[in-house]
Amino acid sequence: MLIDAATAPIETFLTHLECSRTGERLPADTLHNLSPAGAPLLARYDLDGVRSAMTREALAARAPNFWRYRELLPIRDAAHIASLGEEITPLIPLRNACDGDVLVKDEGRLPTGSFKARGLAVAVAMAKSFGVTRVALPTNGNAGAAAAAYASRLGIECFVFCPDDTPELNIRETELAGGKVWRVNGLINDCGRVVAEGEGPMGWFNLSTLKEPYRIEGKKTMGIELAEQLGWALPDVIFYPTGGGTGLIGMWKAFDELEAIGLIGPERPRMIAVQATGCAPIVKAFEDGAEHAPLWEDAHTVAAGMRVPVAIGDFLILRAVRDSGGYAVAVEDAAILEARERIGKADGLLLCPEGAATAAAYFDSRERGLVSAGERAVLFNCGNGLKYPMPTDGRSLDLAKPIDWEPIARA
Ligand SMILES: *Cc1c(COP(=O)(O)O)cnc(C)c1O
Repeated sequence: MLIDAATAPIETFLTHLECSRTGERLPADTLHNLSPAGAPLLARYDLDGVRSAMTREALAARAPNFWRYRELLPIRDAAHIASLGEEITPLIPLRNACDGDVLVKDEGRLPTGSFKARGLAVAVAMAKSFGVTRVALPTNGNAGAAAAAYASRLGIECFVFCPDDTPELNIRETELAGGKVWRVNGLINDCGRVVAEGEGPMGWFNLSTLKEPYRIEGKKTMGIELAEQLGWALPDVIFYPTGGGTGLIGMWKAFDELEAIGLIGPERPRMIAVQATGCAPIVKAFEDGAEHAPLWEDAHTVAAGMRVPVAIGDFLILRAVRDSGGYAVAVEDAAILEARERIGKADGLLLCPEGAATAAAYFDSRERGLVSAGERAVLFNCGNGLKYPMPTDGRSLDLAKPIDWEPIARA
């Protein structure tokens, strides 16, 4: 019988929090948002302790979900964890859509249908451990759904603010998971302002991306899980659909932690930050050689999850991309939809638009010779494709008439 690390008493080796800008240390066992310098806080661990506790043998005895990395997660008491059946997400090779060594990590299979479950399962558990009873967050859809689900299960009230053109399905699923959702006539950064302003009058804890220290800890499990799935090795390149960048920053952090505990060596993948041409602040900053990415005006793209005009962790995304020898690239909406169709029709895999953006970026990188066929690439399909509007061929059959086989044979 495998141990379920979501409920078992497993020690965390969390020691403190560190300001990502100044390096200032803060105690881990109180509630935090940003550091005094206004930057994201990063969780730090006693990595020697982790090395002797989170061994390959210990992992072999644990059930396949991301809680198996508990030593490298911040939660002290499993009583604060709500599990909705998180799973190790599969790596699915593209067989027909291209000739390269491409694996799609299909995150759409997580609870609430996106990788937001990772970050919010951990952040909401931490909020619970600090006695928080009310949380709020801005979202482009998936984060709100995940936050509401885990919060409801832990008896925490959850307020969600999203742009009014957020996919309707995201709004309804969030409401059905107990979230109190408000459509806002602005973008996600405007929603973020509402959440910040409400901290006083509403007394909620602000769960915005990177404005509390633990969503990134949950998101980093993508990197640990990927390494473990590949036999404690990493691919040559990772294509990541970048909005706030939590996943990219989180994986980059995870790789350093894994090296420190001896599970991987110094080799690293090139990290490719993928954005849409209609909202590409990170790409522009990368190309400008800048450390920060100014607000992107008139942000628009079919890939709602990447419509983030300004990211508080911009410098961390840019640093990870540059340190890895990677790059940032923007793809057109038309290329995103084309890649979704190409992969669906050739390989039977329905990607979400953000996942399809990584595929479009991969195809583009291959054409430009930035990635070769022999290099192993991992694409993150961060959400379930069923959550998004899809085109239809519009064919129908009228049973009141004799069946005409000619158009069917031609289809
Ligand atoms: C949130 C989200 C993203 C962006 O993820 P970050 O780690 O915040 O950059 C991409 N795609 C989907 C479907 C998302 O929900």
